[in-house]
Amino acid sequence: MIQSLTPRIEINLAKIAHNANVLLQLYDKKGIGIMGVTKAVCGDPAVAKVFVEAGIHTLADSKISNIKKMQDAKVEAEYVLLKISSIQEVKDVTRYANVSIQSEWVVIEKLSQSAKRANQRHKIILMIEMGDGREGILPKDIHEMVQKILGLSGVQLVGIAANFACFGGVKPSNEKLSVLSLLASELESTYSLCFDYISGGNSANYQWFTKVEDPGNINNVRLGESILLGVETLEQKTIPALYTNAFTFVSEVVEAKEKPSLPDGEIGRDAFGNIPSFKDKGMMNRVILGVGHQDILIRGLTPLMDVEILGASSDHMVIDAKTSGLRVGDEVDFSCTYGALLAAMTSPYVTKKYVCH
Ligand SMILES: *Cc1c(COP(=O)(O)O)cnc(C)c1O
Repeated sequence: MIQSLTPRIEINLAKIAHNANVLLQLYDKKGIGIMGVTKAVCGDPAVAKVFVEAGIHTLADSKISNIKKMQDAKVEAEYVLLKISSIQEVKDVTRYANVSIQSEWVVIEKLSQSAKRANQRHKIILMIEMGDGREGILPKDIHEMVQKILGLSGVQLVGIAANFACFGGVKPSNEKLSVLSLLASELESTYSLCFDYISGGNSANYQWFTKVEDPGNINNVRLGESILLGVETLEQKTIPALYTNAFTFVSEVVEAKEKPSLPDGEIGRDAFGNIPSFKDKGMMNRVILGVGHQDILIRGLTPLMDVEILGASSDHMVIDAKTSGLRVGDEVDFSCTYGALLAAMTSPYVTKKYVCH
């Protein structure tokens, strides 16, 4: 087996556990529970176990294969499929997910049939379109949908949800969440329902949460980014008392030379069809790291030492090493954005390593 040590992503489980604990206590103060979203770590069972041990009993992921991975690793939790299902995967949804988020009648009808065939009742949460323009049922159409769902015996409606700041960048405002809260009570009283989940959003809901005095009926948020990276989504601000460095990306120097800072020759296009431009800094300490666009989201990385990323191609990253003294074989650490974390965890070229400190 090839044992490459770089590039790698270092995962500090103790820091993730700390973040999960702090967020659970914080949201609980206003009666809000947490679904731990595992998609950014591709359903990594080690991270999922940390969520569950911290007291998060509902795990949510956008991929059935990730849910299956966690179940195969015996991580005990209620599993929620976050991404609305395709018709083709209906059978796997009822087989592996306990709950799924849905918005289309044809899919829900097929879920009901599939669950009945397996002598099950599949739980669903309806996504409500609150303006962000991604998935969801318009509030004006919700009554008709709920009435139809109540006629199905293979599914059970256990809640409603909204999603913000994902596609349209729409903020989860107090007004929007009040509408969701009222909609929930209206549905509950009209159809004699008692929802388990009235899920107000994701890591972008933090500012709303800190300002709101009474969140009304909202009793759940679905958190990935804030547990893993310690930030809220809207302004990428650190949430007090959380670690922002639970993940570190590490790459290795494969060339270190003093070279001119400007390319030499007639300029055409780079490997990605762009026409590059560079600042003239004279001769510089130019270092190449053995990592590129195929491995990681380069613009989601920030070096933890005083060097500057000049750019990258498929397999190489070029940096201005300044006065760091970097030499071939040295390792360079980076912090990751959500996008870089997603890419690192998804990439087969990036080694995953669990660390304690
Ligand atoms: C990814 C996702 C989340 C979690 O978002 P974070 O910003 O990581 O907290 C919540 N809900 C849905 C529907 C998602 O797709």
